[in-house]
Amino acid sequence: MNTFEQDIDTLRTWDRTHVWHHLTTGQAASAGVPMFVRGEGLTLWDSDGKEYLDASAGGVWVTNVGYGRKEIADAVYQQLMDLNYFAGSMASKPAAAFAEKLLGKMPGMSRVYYSSSGSEANEKAFKMVRQIAHKFHDGKKHKILYRDRDYHGTTLATLSASGQAERREQFGPFMPGFVEFPHCCEYRSQFGDVEDYGLRAAAAMEEVILQEGPDTVGAVIIEPITAGGGIIPPPSSYLRQVREICDRYDLLLIMDEVVCGLGRTGAWFGYQHYDVVPDIVTMAKGVASGYAAISCTVTTERVYEMLQEAEGDTLGYFRDISTFGGCLASQAAALANLNIIEREGLVKNSARQGERLLAGFRELADRYALIGDVRGKGLFLGIELVTDRQSKQPVDERISMAIAAKCKEHGLLIGRTNRSLTGFNNILNFSPALTITEQQVDIVI
Ligand code: PLP
Repeated sequence: MNTFEQDIDTLRTWDRTHVWHHLTTGQAASAGVPMFVRGEGLTLWDSDGKEYLDASAGGVWVTNVGYGRKEIADAVYQQLMDLNYFAGSMASKPAAAFAEKLLGKMPGMSRVYYSSSGSEANEKAFKMVRQIAHKFHDGKKHKILYRDRDYHGTTLATLSASGQAERREQFGPFMPGFVEFPHCCEYRSQFGDVEDYGLRAAAAMEEVILQEGPDTVGAVIIEPITAGGGIIPPPSSYLRQVREICDRYDLLLIMDEVVCGLGRTGAWFGYQHYDVVPDIVTMAKGVASGYAAISCTVTTERVYEMLQEAEGDTLGYFRDISTFGGCLASQAAALANLNIIEREGLVKNSARQGERLLAGFRELADRYALIGDVRGKGLFLGIELVTDRQSKQPVDERISMAIAAKCKEHGLLIGRTNRSLTGFNNILNFSPALTITEQQVDIVI
């Protein structure tokens, strides 16, 4: 019997009694959280038949091509019928085809290593840095610098490399070898009124490298635009300067594109707005838009070569494995997803509709003093709420919560973020599917 044929009340009871929901208190879960049962484009329906416009891309920046894509479902079905699995140490049609297509969007990058979540993709990057440190620097150049406000994952290593205090609370002690440097949010300036905020914030990173000793630091990891830490696009000079500093001290630059990748910011990848080429790029959420679990750690040929055979080296390969990084249906889903983004011009649409949304929010800011700042790029935008524009005092958590709840009541799903930047969740975030139309943008506004 197909259990989904149970009536919805039974399923909802099972949900309340058996399912442990992410980031949800037991009290909220037993009161019942919405059960979404169908999606089409940006529209979702819950088990009561209520309709929502989803401006959160599945709650956590995932569904870049929207819901209900038959083309992806067909590609997954076909691959499952042809061959569902063999380990990633062997070749496969979808792994090869997706890698070739993806690298076509990433000039300067050369190799794709598959895994199944954003955290895992970042762990792979860290392990590459560590193995390179052991091969070439007697293990010394092993430290990884991460930025305040950035988040890189839920595992203990990636959490050790994350700068969001509230996510780290109660999980210490953390892994050694990860060191924090200051964020680059100009609206919440830590360096006063400086001429070029990007250069100043990058210099703060360099100070930490010098403090630690450059011969102990192997890499820097950065989100091109910080997501959960407060929707923070860097000042325009920042990332180029970060790249230069990394080159000066022989550090690998890891770009965490888990959220920004695949068109979210109006470019194929967030870093491409800033004229830099990283050494390692990680990606996950929009890679298959939630039709399957997949992530990638993409490297330059130089990084790949460093982890190949050398004279007298018996460990001439990257000594890592990911059982489900070899899931062929996930790679087939990713290929179909990328084909859709390309064919429908969704990167351009993200840039165009993002501009419209941003302009609409700026008009709202002219009308409501509650809006302290509006920022972001493409369809990756945040509204920071304050009680007073002068002092920039964040609004009480209950206000942003009430706004998000009111939106939901009216059938609009939005996100909230940023506890660690101000101590409050005072940023509303907007990240609809990249297929959003002008009319839907206007509804969101
Ligand atoms: N990196 C960033 C920037 C993220 O926002 C997230 C998750 O939200 C991750 C990594 C971790 O990805 P996952 O939850 O797939 O492990």
